[in-house]
Amino acid sequence: MADKSTEEILHKLGIKKVNESICTGVQWVTPVGSETRKINSPVDGKHIASITYATTTEYERVMMVAESAFKYWKAVPAPKRGEIVRQIGNALRENKHDLGYLVSYEMGKSLQEGWGEVQEMIDICDFAVGLSRQLYGLTISSERPEHHMMEQWHPLGIVGIISAFNFPVAVWSWNAMIAAVCGNVCIWKPSEKAPLSAIAVHHIIKTVLVDNELPEGIFNLIIGDHRIGEKMSKDKRIPLISATGSTRMGKRVSQLVGSRLGKSILELGGNNAIIVTEDANLENALKASVFGSVGTAGQRCTSTRRLIVQDTIFEKFKSKLVKIYAQLKIGNPLDQDNHVGPLIDKDAVKIYLKAIESAEDEGGQVLFGAKVLKGKGYESGCYVVPTLILARNHYNIVQEETFAPITYLIKFSRLEEAIAMQNDVKQGLSSAIFTDNMKEAHQFTSVFGSDCGIANVNIGTSGAEIGGAFGGEKETGGGRESGSDSWKAYMRRQTNTINFGDGMPLAQGIKFDI
Ligand code: NAD
Repeated sequence: MADKSTEEILHKLGIKKVNESICTGVQWVTPVGSETRKINSPVDGKHIASITYATTTEYERVMMVAESAFKYWKAVPAPKRGEIVRQIGNALRENKHDLGYLVSYEMGKSLQEGWGEVQEMIDICDFAVGLSRQLYGLTISSERPEHHMMEQWHPLGIVGIISAFNFPVAVWSWNAMIAAVCGNVCIWKPSEKAPLSAIAVHHIIKTVLVDNELPEGIFNLIIGDHRIGEKMSKDKRIPLISATGSTRMGKRVSQLVGSRLGKSILELGGNNAIIVTEDANLENALKASVFGSVGTAGQRCTSTRRLIVQDTIFEKFKSKLVKIYAQLKIGNPLDQDNHVGPLIDKDAVKIYLKAIESAEDEGGQVLFGAKVLKGKGYESGCYVVPTLILARNHYNIVQEETFAPITYLIKFSRLEEAIAMQNDVKQGLSSAIFTDNMKEAHQFTSVFGSDCGIANVNIGTSGAEIGGAFGGEKETGGGRESGSDSWKAYMRRQTNTINFGDGMPLAQGIKFDI
């Protein structure tokens, strides 16, 4: 069992020993099924709580209330919907400490990152509140006299949200808060590896929904594994599926949603690189490289996986990097003195070891790490040493996303060669260049530069501000979430032509004698 202070936080957040399988916003539904899953913390290996998977009966119940809630919610003026989101943001502010703690304990990211994730939820609420008064359409000059033309944006209906374990709460809010101000209702299927944080979120927002006397079904939670995800993907009643996770999952979801001509937003794996040129501020490049590589123990979609460094500074950069790696403190992420926490589970540890073995088989040279930690403080068996490997970009393993703190160090001589290597992977999420040379910086962000959804200059690959549209190209899926005009993906566009004259001018000058 978790220790006393953790127990208190779990209690405050409404987490029981065995938790319900669905929540319809204002109501929790006791499951009829018996398939349960134990959730153990990767921090100390202790059993936190169990969940029960939803069955078809509960799935149908949640669909029914969501369909009915959409009829109500779409009629609520958008700024009033924004007011509910504002209150949800405040409820999250009040619970930031506890929810951030649970995220950290359940998933293994540092406490600071757990709180940061909840702050991201709060920020997106603020963004969505403003957006609720800015769902602008266009007016267009009609070619016909006494006609008006305009474009309006209407909500889609039910938005299905499938999320990954590594951002157990923020990704939901990126989708749900924007979708909600747009007039949609949501069904969230969190990762079965980190469902307790999602359950806690629904306990937190329930107070807002009840206080405002809202009907059930606006924000729904359904607990299950990939089978529920597939059911949602096949379900014609869900016009939009927003799925975050591996490329493998995205390919399947895209097939299922595409076969019924539904819409999808896919946020999938990355294989992110930082290019460091000889004109870079080396200290900044090193800081960003280490943070991007080892933050969240390399379990961010935007984690730095490849460091592409110019030959003239390569040896210097390499030796400084190894020195920093040797100083990293690995241990309990709830202790803020530690830099690196655990991987999500023992399967992830096996994948880490296998990737290192494959890199060595292909000719890679381990410069640091390649070790699983054992003994006091590491009882969960999920702690590994962040690893640096001297490698070539074309190695099969370098081409893959390994969700662990493994970073490949690759040498280049000309910038064009570095950009070509950076782009020569299947994924296209995040990328960065460190240089104080203006020409290099502009080349990197130009049409001759990075092919990723995110291309940064003098800032690393990991993380992103909510104000920009977030997502990536190629096998990262092409979806965009969060800021900018991402809201348009949660709405349908309608073009209206209105004739306010007495005549009936037909297109292409066609005339009828009536
Ligand atoms: P995962 O693909 O194993 O699972 C993600 C979610 O998809 C889970 O809820 C899971 O139950 C569900 N799922 C799995 N198979 C499914 C199927 N066939 N049909 C429907 N749903 C299915 O991923 P994970 O291990 O939880 O997360 C790590 C991956 O997520 C990494 O590849 C990472 O890069 C990616 N990720 C991407 C982003 C992004 O924004 N691009 C953000 C976070 C994580």
